[in-house]
Amino acid sequence: MKVDELLQYDREHVWHPYASMTNPLPVYPVKRAEGVYIELEDGRRLIDGMSSWWSVIHGYNHPALNAAVEKQLKEMSHVMFGGLTHAPAVELASRLLSIAPSGLDNVFFSDSGSVAVEVGMKMALQYWYARGREEKRYFVTPRCGYHGDTWNAMSVCDPVTGMHSIFRGTLPLHYFVPSPSPSFGKPCGQEDIAAFQECLRNNHTRVAAVILEPIVQGAGGMRFYSAEYLRKVHELCYMYDILLICDEIATGFWRTGKRWACDHAGISPDIMCVGKALTGGYMGFAATLATANVARVISSRSPGVFMHGPTFTGNPLACAVARASLDVLEEYRTVEERVKQIETLLREGLSPTASLGQVADARVLGAIGVVEMKKPVDVAAVQADLVEMGVWARPFGNLIYVMPPYIITPEELHVLTTAITRVILKYE
Ligand SMILES: *Cc1c(COP(=O)(O)O)cnc(C)c1O
Repeated sequence: MKVDELLQYDREHVWHPYASMTNPLPVYPVKRAEGVYIELEDGRRLIDGMSSWWSVIHGYNHPALNAAVEKQLKEMSHVMFGGLTHAPAVELASRLLSIAPSGLDNVFFSDSGSVAVEVGMKMALQYWYARGREEKRYFVTPRCGYHGDTWNAMSVCDPVTGMHSIFRGTLPLHYFVPSPSPSFGKPCGQEDIAAFQECLRNNHTRVAAVILEPIVQGAGGMRFYSAEYLRKVHELCYMYDILLICDEIATGFWRTGKRWACDHAGISPDIMCVGKALTGGYMGFAATLATANVARVISSRSPGVFMHGPTFTGNPLACAVARASLDVLEEYRTVEERVKQIETLLREGLSPTASLGQVADARVLGAIGVVEMKKPVDVAAVQADLVEMGVWARPFGNLIYVMPPYIITPEELHVLTTAITRVILKYE
């Protein structure tokens, strides 16, 4: 198809994420991508500020990741995981568990982050079922969270910015507590955790688990909150005999400056979900990790098995490329310093915007930079201006934010933050 035909067919027939079919925002046709650059069909090259939604941490068309896929392709691209196993899956499991927060000892592979969340929530419910406590079947979750778009995941997304109003009456109802505060780097006083504690105190006999995004609430508002808050949540879950599910799908693999966002608080959850950057952004894949205790209890009562099994669980291509991505992370000298340098440059580049009248806040954590505007951003206009300046980002709500691939150079970061500053200046 010629590019204009392709765009027309796309406009008329192809649904994009969170998009209208009758009045869609413009989409930009991509020809290829290499390193931090996305190349459009018209030849323009854009510095990717999004890592394709947190996932492409090593950049596009990475030689080692390409080689891993090619090698695996020649062995087998897929076999069912029921009754069969293979080196890519077992070796990935071993690698993942060796770097996971302590205590996580078992892994379940699935095909997307939302499914990994569904799996984690089902594990929590089956855990209490096996312990003969079926009444513990509700979840507690902070407002402003995001955990994916499938049914149970959606039920623990923020009830306002999530989709609760549309699906009201059909979604399972859970307990929402105020979104975590204070912000990252600040201590968390008793008053900051009081509402959460009260919710657990009043409802713990019915609560299976707390589910949250550790330290960074991503798609629900790009909020960075106190590590001490997370530490207190962890203690209270233990005290009230409630499981803790940490959704590290956006934050995992060093995005926040540590390997896991949980590491900022020095905690280990009972269940942890990873996805997005797991395969270096090469394909949809995710994993749910659980402690030996969770796994043992689930297996202890009839049916004695964990009741989930996606067709493509343990997909060898995905496992092979995930394993290669973990190798590449290890080869950076060191990934921690690399992310630290991105953090410093993002801070230098973006914090001057904080004094502008149209800006409510500018904040940076690890390789995440956020400028929160006072008013909602005109996505199409801002995106067009950024593309004009050779940059790819996708604002939402009041937020213009970036989370570039870790291979971005200081010069490219400068282009990125300068473009964002310019676009903000324009939209006074
Ligand atoms: C993106 C995301 C999900 C959902 O992952 P998908 O792969 O899009 O299904 C879940 N939780 C968090 C924190 C996310 O950022």
